[in-house]
Amino acid sequence: MARHTARDLRSENRFEVLHALFELGPSTRQELARHTGLSQATVATLVTEFLSGGVLHIAAVERNTGGRPQERLTIAPDRGRIVGVDVAETYVDAVVHDLALDVLSHAEVALDEKENDPGYVVDGIVRAVDRALGADESERERVIGVGVSMPGHVHPDAGVSVFAPNWDWHDVHIEELLEQRLAIPVYVDNPLKAVILSEMWFGVGNVVDSMAVVNLGTGVGAGIALDGSLIRGITNNAGEWGHTLLELDGRACRCGRRGCVEAYVGAPGLRTTLAEIDPGHPTLRQPRQRDFVEAVAEGLAAGDPALSALVLRTGRYLAAGLGDLVNLLDVPHITLTGWASEALADRLVPAVRDELPHHVLPGSLPGLTVEPSQVPGNAVALGMAAFTLQRFLTRLGLASPARTRPRPDREPAGFGRRAVTVPSPGPDAV
Ligand SMILES: [Zn+2]
Repeated sequence: MARHTARDLRSENRFEVLHALFELGPSTRQELARHTGLSQATVATLVTEFLSGGVLHIAAVERNTGGRPQERLTIAPDRGRIVGVDVAETYVDAVVHDLALDVLSHAEVALDEKENDPGYVVDGIVRAVDRALGADESERERVIGVGVSMPGHVHPDAGVSVFAPNWDWHDVHIEELLEQRLAIPVYVDNPLKAVILSEMWFGVGNVVDSMAVVNLGTGVGAGIALDGSLIRGITNNAGEWGHTLLELDGRACRCGRRGCVEAYVGAPGLRTTLAEIDPGHPTLRQPRQRDFVEAVAEGLAAGDPALSALVLRTGRYLAAGLGDLVNLLDVPHITLTGWASEALADRLVPAVRDELPHHVLPGSLPGLTVEPSQVPGNAVALGMAAFTLQRFLTRLGLASPARTRPRPDREPAGFGRRAVTVPSPGPDAV
């Protein structure tokens, strides 16, 4: 375990203040202290740092009768730009945010799911970022960082895609490859960590502090927060719920094992289930995963009985897997997110809710909620932008780089290496 230093604590306090500003909107120092539980002196020091770094500005000065004037502070959106990038097996979505994490523009590039060469994927990411930033060179100069979510096992401190099962990648130095092409500081992480940070900051995290965010796409997995802390595990692999067991000796999974949850509720798993229900179903002729899932959603709306059976059976698989997750973690809330979930949520969420009581211990059931995510836009890209903002703030006002594995030859100007509010993998874990 990494030691917790005074600098870590200082960074965490910064993120607390930042998070409070996202949650409360324009706030006085007193309101920030009350909301975060930090002392007024700590908040005053951090606000002074933020103001001198241009991260905050004074939105208004309120003069209450008899009291001192109170400054209302807000994030300065034009201090910089942050690009959050969601890389999946079938697409790259690059989203440009201002510093207040509002979306300014985005661009999507399709990836051929059969192509797995790192050069091909890097090229797709660069094209998406370039398109999202547009032709205005001054916008590119304002970018303080690019946060890139990569599928599979990612080691953020080393900037390495350790293992991406669907691409058969091993130890691809993705951050280095991207920084060479983009000439902008890059931070990489895993989508499960991005979606849980989005949910903590911009979704149900404003109401509950323990939750699982279940991401359904080509692959499936869960982002986990317990008592307000994002759970990473020792190697940043926590939340690989998609590779927990649903059926012993069941369907082959792309991780190499049999019977994983992903083999049943990931997009290819849906196709397998439909083929079992109706091998000649016309929807099976859709070659691409996203087209297939969209066609399922359309067929459901038209009352197709085989597709209704598909959703019911998928709901049972999903509820069984979620039951394990709840029994293990005892979280009061599950959010469903990801492109496959979004396409099917209208039918899938009720099916899961009906089935879940058969799988969750009675003590955990009261108050357990299952909802589609309310995070606006692309939650993966937003979460990656939030991580990137955290990295930037870690460096703000610090004379020396944050404590980390020394990499003086590759330290970019924009921000330091470690930085998140959450335990990050140990420096020697790869
Ligand atoms: Zn698996």
